[in-house]
Amino acid sequence: MVEEFNIEKETFTSADKEFEKKLRPLSFNDFKGQSRIIENLKIFVTAANQRNEALDHVLLHGPPGLGKTTLATIIANELDVNIKVTSGPVLDKPGDLAGLLTGLEEGDVLFIDEIHRLSPIVEEYLYSAMEDYQIDIMIDKGPGARSVQLTLNPFTMIGATTRSGLLTSPLRARFGIKMHLEYYDAKILSGIINRSSGILNVSIDRDAADEMAFRSRGTPRIANALLRRVRDFAQVKGDGNIDMDITRFSLSALNIDKNGLDEMDNKILSVIIDKFKGGPVGLSTISTAVGEEAGTIEEVYEPFLIKEGYIKRTPRGREATETAYIHLGKQKLGEAGLLF
Ligand code: ADP
Repeated sequence: MVEEFNIEKETFTSADKEFEKKLRPLSFNDFKGQSRIIENLKIFVTAANQRNEALDHVLLHGPPGLGKTTLATIIANELDVNIKVTSGPVLDKPGDLAGLLTGLEEGDVLFIDEIHRLSPIVEEYLYSAMEDYQIDIMIDKGPGARSVQLTLNPFTMIGATTRSGLLTSPLRARFGIKMHLEYYDAKILSGIINRSSGILNVSIDRDAADEMAFRSRGTPRIANALLRRVRDFAQVKGDGNIDMDITRFSLSALNIDKNGLDEMDNKILSVIIDKFKGGPVGLSTISTAVGEEAGTIEEVYEPFLIKEGYIKRTPRGREATETAYIHLGKQKLGEAGLLF
């Protein structure tokens, strides 16, 4: 049996991470798509470089796998500074943050992934660091304990989030540059797959790359992960070259359907249609029925299903659209349970 194809970053193994690192673009010129964001960032980075100042703090938001970490690394490269990488859930004490902040050299980038998961105390501690490059630290313990103010080197904080709605407004307000990453179109993903196959030294037919791109849920991380899996099939079942036949065979073995929806996408649609008559149905009910966390459904699965027009969000819950019925080959039932 083929292992289930998982699109979440948390479940990545170290081999997956190594693989991603290898394929990560290092400069604006290597980064495909998101052209408006890139054009603007280029200007902000050039201006900061010319003034010899730290770039304003940047907030990147959008679904997982669209290139937020990659962009943070590129910004640091283009600014020619160091980058320190951490994440919201890891920074659980202000002391951890203080250690990171005091270690930053002038103009360095501090990247905080999943910034919406920072604890409130750590978040509050960040405010003065971001605004005035100053922090308070406690020295000594017990009765002699006192707090002293430390001035930090000017730095750029880059925050990434899949849930910008969960960010508090004081934190959001401290980012001078806010950018939303969109899903990629298939043409750009095909370019990314071709670039990756060049780096991995595997040959791939043009139509096979297009097919893989079309079934990658608009997400570079998925495009690269599919390429890696299909490469295995091509090596074991074929002659190593990735053509259309081997691509189709592999994708169906990975349970990715002809429209690029995976098992969980289809499960969500089936539950809404079969168990709840097409909705509206609440997120937590869907979550229980499919056995997946509500947050993951909301961050990972739902945005793509909404974008592709399979479900819509209404004030009363999620509803399956006509497209979803057609996709699953089901017919819509009327109020009295009649077909219409
Ligand atoms: P996020 O931080 O948004 O979850 P990442 O930056 O980790 O996403 O990107 C996941 C993978 O997708 C990276 O390994 C990178 O190689 C690839 N990738 C993302 N965006 C692009 C892009 N625009 N061009 C080429 N590769 C990309």
